[in-house]
Amino acid sequence: MDYIDAHCHITASVLPHGFAAVITNSARMSDWGSVARIVGAGGIYGAIGVHPWYISDLPDDWSQKMRQLLAREPALAVGEIGLDKYHPDMPHQIDVFKTQIQMARDLGRTAHIHCVGAWGRVIEVLNDITPPAIVFHGFDASPEMLDRLLRYNAYFSFGRAICNPARLRARDALRLVPKNRILSESDSDNPMDVIPVVRSMSEILSRPITGIKKTIYTNTMELLKNGQTA
Ligand SMILES: [Zn+2]
Repeated sequence: MDYIDAHCHITASVLPHGFAAVITNSARMSDWGSVARIVGAGGIYGAIGVHPWYISDLPDDWSQKMRQLLAREPALAVGEIGLDKYHPDMPHQIDVFKTQIQMARDLGRTAHIHCVGAWGRVIEVLNDITPPAIVFHGFDASPEMLDRLLRYNAYFSFGRAICNPARLRARDALRLVPKNRILSESDSDNPMDVIPVVRSMSEILSRPITGIKKTIYTNTMELLKNGQTA
């Protein structure tokens, strides 16, 4: 069984050996073209969006351009988008996030979400406008928050944080997420970084690596059926 990287930032159009699929996310408008170009190559899926760290110098027509590209490329999802309390201008972050969530819903695409310390606000937006499927990447929220997020068609992607024994909340979240909703990610430009994540999942969940890989494969294929193609 091969690995899957459900949240990365690659620009290469060939998967590393031993990988079944990757989902590459754009952080900035300037990444959209390279993601759109490689999506569709064997096992490469992708998302375009504006990350909350990169909202400061968006041109006036950014959302129009994004909507056009999504309409033209039905295989593209929406991501990486979200809210981050450690970055400036929360009102503008919320505007940009809402606009993109609206596009995901209108065009029937999965939304790949980055959330740091702004869960209440993310939920407010999602309750108003709910995309067909959601991936919460780098997931490490509390059990209470997880309960609220399970009301959506949500997947929870775990990355390198769970390899660190001190990151108790992320490791506890992994134990609590329903097994059919777990994904693995590198959040890097190298999907190979998923390998230690899967090893840690196997330790934390006391299940063999092959079983974990199979679960992640099934979950990702299920996710890709939903929303990823319009
Ligand atoms: Zn990312």
